This record gives sequence, C-alpha cells and structure tokens, in this order.
Amino acid sequence: MYEDLNKIYEKCLNCQKCRLGQTRNNIVFSDGVPNPKLMLIGEAPGFYEDKEGKPFVGKAGQLLDKIFASVGLTRKRDVYICNTVKCRPPENRNPEPAEKEACWEYLKAQSILGNVGGITKIRGKWYKGGDNVYGAKLMPIFHPSYLLRNDSRAKGSPKWLMWQDIQEIKREYEKLE
Ligand code: SF4
Repeated sequence: MYEDLNKIYEKCLNCQKCRLGQTRNNIVFSDGVPNPKLMLIGEAPGFYEDKEGKPFVGKAGQLLDKIFASVGLTRKRDVYICNTVKCRPPENRNPEPAEKEACWEYLKAQSILGNVGGITKIRGKWYKGGDNVYGAKLMPIFHPSYLLRNDSRAKGSPKWLMWQDIQEIKREYEKLE
C-alpha cells in the first residue's frame, strides 16, 4: 500500500490535468499515518497548505489538531488526511466540479469516496473506503478555516456540527480499537 501511495504521489507532483496545476506552488497530497483506522478529507488546500505542501497547516491546522485532541486523537498516530483536490484553488475559492473530477483519480486511489456532492452535503456521513485503505470508513468534514470564519457554537452552526462529527469519529475509532 505504501508503495502504491508513493507512486500516486509521484504522479501527482507533475500533474497538470486541470488549471489548478498552473497556479499551485506545491502539491498538497496527504498527512498523517498511511495505514489508518481513520481518514479525514478536506475540500481543498488553502494558502498555507499550498506553501508547505501539507494539508491542514497554519491556524486552521492548529484548530484541527485541537479538535482531534479534544477526543484524544492525533494526526501523527490515528488519521490519514487529504483533500478532494491536491492543488490550491486561487483566492481559496471552492474547487469547481471539473477540477474535482480531474483530481478524482488521486482521491479514488487514496480512498474511494464517490463524487457525491459539496462538502455541506457530504460532511458528517460515513463512506466506505476501498482496498488502498483496507476498506476504511470515511467521513468528510468542514475545513477548519471555515470554522475560524464562523465563530458561533450555537446548535446547527458549523462548529457545533464539527463537534458532532469529531465525537462520531471518535466513537467509530473506539469500535476499531
Ligand atoms: S488539482 Fe488535482 S487534477 Fe488538478 S492539477 Fe492538481 S493534482 Fe492535477
């Protein structure tokens, strides 16, 4: 599996399958452990991710790590992380359907999550992974930078939904232990 992921990563490095390839500084492929019980999928890399070539860094990454820590999880030990597209959309706009489609080859190889809709529709739900992740269950989540822009913790708010999601993730994780 590690070999497969390395091959996919190397292929990604020179990818120009969509126009995001023209403006990226770095491919943002993945972070975390490559043989996970849990995998988290964000929508797209942002400014800091593009700069460092790593998903969920900067303030958003710190918030994500706090969210993990709130339920005793850490990306270094428990989670494999990637995004629906591997290159940053300019000005942090949402990736377009054609861009997600172009990048689907890589996400499919990393996880196998169907192109089932936008993040608000698919977040908080479990999906079944493929052989590359040993059939792991997958849950898309809000990007933490979205949570930083939406400070409310009221019921139904993005932060509230994230809290529900991370607890659900932890519950599922505990079942696997
Ligand atoms: S976003 Fe994906 S498909 Fe588009 S250039 Fe980057 S790696 Fe290739």
